[in-house]
Amino acid sequence: MTSDIRVRIAPSPTGHLHLGTARTALYNYLFARHHKGSFVLRLEDTDEMRSDESYTQDIIDGLKWLGLSWDEGPDIGGPYPPYRQTEKIDHYERVAQKLISSGQAYFCYCSPEELSLLKEDQKNSNGALRYDNRCRHLTEAQLTQLQAEGRVPAIRFKVEEPRVVSWHDGIKGEIAIDSADLGGDMVIVKSNGVAIYNFAVVVDDIDMKISHVIRGEDHIHNTAKQILIYEALGHKPPVFAHAALIFDIERRKLSKRHHGEAVHVDRYRRDGYMPEAIVNYLAQMSWSPADGREIFTLPEACPMFDLDRVSKSPAVFDVPRLNWFNSHYIRSLPLPLILERTMPYWQSFDCAQYSKAQLEEIVATVRDGLTTLCEIAEVARFFFEKEISLFDEQVQSLLAADSSRTVLTKILKHLGEFPWGDGKGCKAVIDSIGKELSLKGKDLYWPVRGALCGKTSGPDLGATLSILGAARVKERIEGALGLCPQA
Ligand code: GLU
Repeated sequence: MTSDIRVRIAPSPTGHLHLGTARTALYNYLFARHHKGSFVLRLEDTDEMRSDESYTQDIIDGLKWLGLSWDEGPDIGGPYPPYRQTEKIDHYERVAQKLISSGQAYFCYCSPEELSLLKEDQKNSNGALRYDNRCRHLTEAQLTQLQAEGRVPAIRFKVEEPRVVSWHDGIKGEIAIDSADLGGDMVIVKSNGVAIYNFAVVVDDIDMKISHVIRGEDHIHNTAKQILIYEALGHKPPVFAHAALIFDIERRKLSKRHHGEAVHVDRYRRDGYMPEAIVNYLAQMSWSPADGREIFTLPEACPMFDLDRVSKSPAVFDVPRLNWFNSHYIRSLPLPLILERTMPYWQSFDCAQYSKAQLEEIVATVRDGLTTLCEIAEVARFFFEKEISLFDEQVQSLLAADSSRTVLTKILKHLGEFPWGDGKGCKAVIDSIGKELSLKGKDLYWPVRGALCGKTSGPDLGATLSILGAARVKERIEGALGLCPQA
């Protein structure tokens, strides 16, 4: 790395990798790569109740799948370990103690019951919900009394009021927040000794020399709180940049509650989306390259990406548009790569009956019609079946027609003339048979396709014949003729 630019993605492993987090990770990654800086992965796992190792794994797998490789963090290490907050509990407490010594934080002995009573009162009087800073000015006698009661204190940070906290946001421009809207003095270390997010994040970002914090705009009020903590610790805050949130086409925030698994990156991985499509789609959702292009790869986006072209308006997650990107990548990525990604969907098929080149041909023949790769199992199933087990109704009535029987019988007779392995050549043989029988169009092609695939629609007929080869074509036509009435 050749610059001091250091950015991070700091997910909490309390759920699967969310599309919004993936977009934030992507913007941080692109920013780091453009500026030849470092991209750090840090797991904010101080919420012991909700954090889970399986979510950590899901986040790591999802980021890797998208190609967003980090320079420091789990699996890699780096000069600023550890990368899990739970490994730094004592450190946060020590820093908090310093704030107590300098008079910028204090012990708060309020019990959860007292705090919920305060909340109730404020609700009943329609007041703003905030801590009333009651423990800020405890006398020595009160302190002794509370300690004697055996209460274990939390540590609260003093939020000075009145005060306007302002910063120049890397995406949104000037932002000013009234400190009176921050909820009063805030807990930074809970009574069980565990630091809360707004504090731990500042300590970590300072420790890891983070230069830019790029994240979702739902963190704007947190940023104001964090700036106050930076000041109290005597550190210059990083540059903050807040990206607009992602909404659905009905203008609802993309959330687990409304959208279920559709907000999880993993769901797209399982459903046969190309990581290249997800990356391209997420990148262009709130950012566009200066040259206006829509289609670009991750390496292509790196030199083009900067915060000044990230939009301030909400992004809209639109599945048909994502599908458009996905179809594009299924059609255009190299065949060996698509085949490799296809194999899990073909696990129940006898793939060994075909060579690798033939399997690639199957992919090439069907991929144009796919939106997601998982559809390839259904679309290509007939290539692998021993015999067509199900002819659809249209094919069944078609195969009952005399002309169909004539076409199929003729093909059997001419099997030796087909140039197997050459799709166009195979199609030409069918056309010449059609000519002899004065049949063309669907009268000619549908019985053949029906006999080979069980359906009248499907991939290119010549390619289908050519890939199936003489033996399978013979077997299938004989099978289909079994369904035709005897002459
Ligand atoms: N753990 C926070 C989250 O997942 C990180 C926010 C931040 O980037 O500071 O939202």
